Amino acid sequence: MTTSADSAPPLVLVLGGTSESRRLAALLTRGAAGPLRVVSSLAGRVARPVLPEGEVRIGGFGGVAGLTAYLREERVAAVVDATHPFAGVMSFHAAEAAAGAGVPLLALRRPSWRQGPGDRWYPVASLEEAAALLPSLGRRVFLTTGRSGLGAFADAAPGLWFLLRSVDPPVGPGPEECEVLLDRGPFTLEGEREVLRTYGVEVLVTKDSGGEATAPKLTAAREAGIPVVVVRRPPVPEEVPVVGTPEEAVAWLGGG
Ligand code: NAP
Repeated sequence: MTTSADSAPPLVLVLGGTSESRRLAALLTRGAAGPLRVVSSLAGRVARPVLPEGEVRIGGFGGVAGLTAYLREERVAAVVDATHPFAGVMSFHAAEAAAGAGVPLLALRRPSWRQGPGDRWYPVASLEEAAALLPSLGRRVFLTTGRSGLGAFADAAPGLWFLLRSVDPPVGPGPEECEVLLDRGPFTLEGEREVLRTYGVEVLVTKDSGGEATAPKLTAAREAGIPVVVVRRPPVPEEVPVVGTPEEAVAWLGGG
């Protein structure tokens, strides 16, 4: 890895917004891959983000051109795209900008969830497809796909009731019959059982986010025999190497 200036340590840009990105920033700022300067980047979507250790910048770069300029001006030595698996735009921007600026890029993606015995999963390609499927599965819907994209459920079939769980209150169009539960993971199995019971949930909608923090809802749904509509992940740039854990990203950066 090249240094950013004669005496300065190499600069690693971590595109964040996930627990894995925070774990990676913590490992790197504590020296797991040697002396590095680490800057974590957040989109600025949530009002009170959980901040990673070390330096943080917040806000978009201004598209591929803006990110390319940032990589050049800051003399970034390597980029780790540790954004959420559903942040599909940013991952393609990162791939294009890193290629343009000649900077090595790694994607850190937590593995997909796997369906197990007893699960009643209905994989779909989009939130719109999820909305269309709901009337055949149940009337009381637990929506855990986040507050963005809520418009897909705005014209849901009459008679459907939604419990929306999100970090910040929703904005823009959404389903008419909707109660909002403001909460942020990680969630416990007991807590998820309680939500399903209390609200009489008949069907769960989730993205295939993967990871441990929000997985207990899947176990609770399985136990209760509740069907789960699982939105598949968007495509990722094919040419970018991928690892599944922060520790593997540290190794890629020359540590461990
Ligand atoms: P997106 O659709 O892939 O990206 C849209 C735009 O947001 C990008 O073009 C970029 O703006 C900006 N952006 C995204 N991630 C950024 C980052 N880490 N640093 C700086 N700018 C960023 O992203 P999204 O789905 O809106 O997600 C936004 C952030 O929330 C991501 O960091 C992601 O890790 C986190 N997150 C997303 C989800 C989800 O379900 N989508 C869930 C949990 C957390 P410019 O073009 O101006 O650079």
